[in-house]
Amino acid sequence: MPSQFVKEFDTPAYKGKVTVNTGVFINNEWRDGSDNTTIDLINPTNGQAYAKISEGTAKDVDLAVEAAQKAFDTTWGLKTPGLARGELMWKLAFAMEEIQDELAALEVLDNGKTFKDAKSIDVAAAIGCIKYYAGWADKNMGQQIETHEGKFAYTRHEPIGVVGQIIPWNFPLLMWSWKIGPALATGNVIVMKPSELTPLSALRCCDLIKKVGFPPGVINVVTGYGQTVGNAISTHMKIDKVAFTGSTLVGRKIMEGAAKSNLKKVTLELGGKSPNIIFDDADIDTAVGWASHGIYWNHGQACCAGSRIFVQEGIYDKFLTAFAKKAQSIQIGDPFGPETEQGPQVSEMQYDRIMDYISSGKEEGATVHTGGERHGSEGYFIKPTIFTDTHPDMRIVKEEIFGPVGVVIKFKDVADMVRQANDTVYGLAAAIFTKDLNTAIETGHALKAGTVWINCINNLDPSVPFGGFKQSGIGRELGQYALANYTNVKAVHVNLSMPI
Ligand code: NAD
Repeated sequence: MPSQFVKEFDTPAYKGKVTVNTGVFINNEWRDGSDNTTIDLINPTNGQAYAKISEGTAKDVDLAVEAAQKAFDTTWGLKTPGLARGELMWKLAFAMEEIQDELAALEVLDNGKTFKDAKSIDVAAAIGCIKYYAGWADKNMGQQIETHEGKFAYTRHEPIGVVGQIIPWNFPLLMWSWKIGPALATGNVIVMKPSELTPLSALRCCDLIKKVGFPPGVINVVTGYGQTVGNAISTHMKIDKVAFTGSTLVGRKIMEGAAKSNLKKVTLELGGKSPNIIFDDADIDTAVGWASHGIYWNHGQACCAGSRIFVQEGIYDKFLTAFAKKAQSIQIGDPFGPETEQGPQVSEMQYDRIMDYISSGKEEGATVHTGGERHGSEGYFIKPTIFTDTHPDMRIVKEEIFGPVGVVIKFKDVADMVRQANDTVYGLAAAIFTKDLNTAIETGHALKAGTVWINCINNLDPSVPFGGFKQSGIGRELGQYALANYTNVKAVHVNLSMPI
């Protein structure tokens, strides 16, 4: 029997005992990874190891695929009506609601995000996403297509079968829900790999999956490293689709794996370097509040973070002063603290990466307007940072930092600003602050981004699609759009009275 992680939380935000099975979850059963090796989880608040999870292998992926295929052929897929699939998904959402504090505490421990955000944003939105897709489970409709007399043609939207899903560490439970929601609603079976840094919430939910009655094999979770478990998923000959969220670098490897194996279908949600554009007529307080949320929410570890802040010259000075004041006011500390607004970065590796970007900005001649250094003496905390006096060729302007580091860029000419905003390999999101409707709409249409926010930023809804232009990804998650990622369209031609 694989081990468990048991913790008695006694924090200002959450008190209670949590038990998480830490093996791999295949066919509704817990087992050790086939090599019997483990991975240490490190608490980003203090750098200390606090739990061990199973290190899955390619062999475990094979076992999970086998279990999933059996479930698809015998109990799930087209064997379970959409209404029944939806009911199970609702039950899962309600079961998650019952332990929402527990799930939030696990997110905090693994990731370092604040309990407040973990509960009110991550866990709440993950539950909302499962409910949203539960509603779609019995609304998967093909079309009847008019051709000519004597013939009847229609389409069926059939589940693909075994789908592999690989998710990152920045929103562990939320990304889990974005993946399993549409896949289950359309009748697929799943082999999921959470990030090796933040697997506990996905593992905790495995017990709920079993408890609410999902048949064995419908959802399998194999924890482990990307090069082994992730690679085994992307190259597997019996996985027909892979959905990945993570870095653009690994996204390329996923496509290569799919191309070299069985040409499985691929959807990718990748990185970004999103512009946040503030026009002269914007309400300053509104723009400052949202700009801060845009880059500092989740400690800057958001793929759609508004990391390049373009401010029109008329309000530049006023904005910069207020924005710096806001950045300096952010309460950094214990993520379980009731007043804390920013916890640590997720890992030492991410901390080092961000500090390296900060050094490169200084070396390349940008000005640190505020922040630019670590906070405290233990854990992976970084002060909210603003760079000014940047140049388009600087690494801090071009590359995704994935930390609490924004660049503020003054602009005069709108056409030139739009050119700069689009001058990136990414195209995930953009935000615009203005009171002028024409400016908002015209600028929004000129930006090459999968999401445009007007007078808000980083505001998502399960019913609205999300995904990237250019190297920010392929396909769309959320909304009705995501259902197409998980269905094969079958066209059926029926001859009624058509002569040969
Ligand atoms: P990552 O690409 O390093 O890892 C993501 C997942 O892929 C992890 O589970 C990891 O174990 C796995 N992986 C690593 N190497 C692999 C390989 N060779 N084959 C298969 N799987 C492999 O990303 P990360 O550091 O966990 O997350 C940060 C990145 O994710 C950022 O670039 C961010 O922009 C992006 N992201 C994008 C979105 C989006 O919706 N567009 C959302 C969240 C994060």
